[in-house]
Amino acid sequence: MRTAIYPGSFDPLTNGHLDVIQRAAKLFDRVVVAVANNAAKSPLFSTDERVGLLAASLASHGLPGVSVDHFDGLLVDYVAKQGGCAVVRGLRAVSDFEFEFQLALMNRKLNESVETIFLMPKDTYSFLSSRLVKEIARLGGDVSAFVPAPVREALAARLKTAAPNFPS
Ligand code: ADP
Repeated sequence: MRTAIYPGSFDPLTNGHLDVIQRAAKLFDRVVVAVANNAAKSPLFSTDERVGLLAASLASHGLPGVSVDHFDGLLVDYVAKQGGCAVVRGLRAVSDFEFEFQLALMNRKLNESVETIFLMPKDTYSFLSSRLVKEIARLGGDVSAFVPAPVREALAARLKTAAPNFPS
């Protein structure tokens, strides 16, 4: 059984992340979407909230091999604990490349048996980031094209943005 770990902040999950998850699910028997418990990034949503939003959003997609978890500490240690052989990361544009390349090579230094697989989302999601989604939601914009419904609702509740731009 081939297991891949898709780690990230997912603060919050976007349709770009979902696209990567669906592609990874076709390649691996098991995909664990792992929310990084990284307090240094002062996330908008707590780790539990991010895990909950992932679970709620994935529920309607019928992806039996995909599960959601969270982790602390070194990613390669978590991959080993899960019996994983690969880390999945998304590449949106050249701008992602430098950081992702550095991260992949560092993880390889730490554990040579863990490969990093890069997946490109559908081009319409290549401009999408959690940071931009939060910014748009904060300013009262409609994010429904960019995030699944549970995330849209959570953003509206958290940011108490004006309802008119959010279709019910
Ligand atoms: P991190 O803080 O680890 O970068 P993110 O949640 O921002 O966490 O991203 C997790 C992974 O998903 C990263 O590999 C990132 O490049 C990728 N990613 C983020 N947004 C998108 C998107 N719109 N399409 C494809 N991949 C994405």
